[in-house]
Amino acid sequence: MRILWFCIPAYGHTNPTIEVVRELTRRGHEVRYYSFEEFREKIEGAGADFVSCDANLPAIDAKTERKLHEVSSTEMSVQSFRITAALDPIISKDVETWHPDMIVTDSACFWGKLTALKYNLPWVCSTTTFAFNKDSAQYMSQSAKEIADMVFGLPRLNREIRKLRPLGYHVKSVLDIVQNKPDDNTIVYTSRTFQPCADTFDQTHYRFVGPSVRSVEPQGKDGRPLVYASLGTVINDRPGFYRTLIEALRNEDVDLLISCGKAFDEALLGELPANVRVEHYVDQMEVLSRASLFITHCGMNSASEGMWMAVPELLFPLTGEQRAVARRVAEVGAGTLLDEGDAKDALKLKAAVLSALVNEEISAGAARMSEDLRSCAGPIGAADFIEQVAAS
Ligand code: UDP
Repeated sequence: MRILWFCIPAYGHTNPTIEVVRELTRRGHEVRYYSFEEFREKIEGAGADFVSCDANLPAIDAKTERKLHEVSSTEMSVQSFRITAALDPIISKDVETWHPDMIVTDSACFWGKLTALKYNLPWVCSTTTFAFNKDSAQYMSQSAKEIADMVFGLPRLNREIRKLRPLGYHVKSVLDIVQNKPDDNTIVYTSRTFQPCADTFDQTHYRFVGPSVRSVEPQGKDGRPLVYASLGTVINDRPGFYRTLIEALRNEDVDLLISCGKAFDEALLGELPANVRVEHYVDQMEVLSRASLFITHCGMNSASEGMWMAVPELLFPLTGEQRAVARRVAEVGAGTLLDEGDAKDALKLKAAVLSALVNEEISAGAARMSEDLRSCAGPIGAADFIEQVAAS
């Protein structure tokens, strides 16, 4: 069969799909994957035909870029509607000439969902965060700034929605796009145990396949404990936090590895003590195979990878979505929350790290979650589900 696949330009949303695409192409299906140049190699490596969205998109001005970087959800939604309009000619041509049998689209990728609705094609939603309905939404404690951004952004969003109508996209409200309906066929890259309010999602339409990770053999942890810190690939420009962490652990009998993000200026951190290394990007699964503690921003993928590798987590979420993941990691007993105030004070941060390192409860919780996540159906189960939806 022929599958059109759509994803937003984010590692956290793209990475989990790769093994599913590999499994589908291995089974002889054709996958045409709309993504961005940064991800071309990975996608082609999985056997898919890559379509570059970058080449068809208008340039973004510096102010918008800044807002996107701050993850303003209004700005992201406005851009998503504009991308939908900009990609419309190439997507329409593809649908009309390549004749895909179905669509798989990331839950946050408006142009994928809207294409499925415009052409009335069977579709599967690929959800790399928690499955989202009014119950699980309660987990997302938005900050006042995030709520204001959404409320004041509504008129702009409605204007963008109206512009899409002449192109054949009929959207009533942004919520229509963001929220999943109970009968939307959805792959979720986590387990039922980790999903909040799991019993509000039915077994037929929601397939919890577990994280789609490249597993690595855990290494022995005999030497100095390795503390690994990463704030992910999106909001990682936090020199103050990195400096406090370095200060906290500089004289301790631990190694600290910080993955600071590709655009971060390391010079902001000054000279590093001998037990500290800072990298722009690491092979996170390999690092986790050696780590004794993971200080994480609680992106869904990072939190899951930590649990998969049975590494206890010190949770430092920065957005509503990350706070939801952090709350859940703490509830399942695989990590402990870092107090925001403690994260700004080297002495308190040191105490939090050292106590997490010897916390047997979260060690046991992480081991339990590792077993739980590894027992899920994985990419094979996701590919089976996509075939089932196409067949029905
Ligand atoms: N990642 C990585 N190396 C790094 C930092 C991140 O391989 O140095 C990967 C990480 O393993 C995860 C993804 O990038 O798969 C980040 O996704 P997540 O959902 O955790 O956070 P986001 O970056 O979307 O905030």
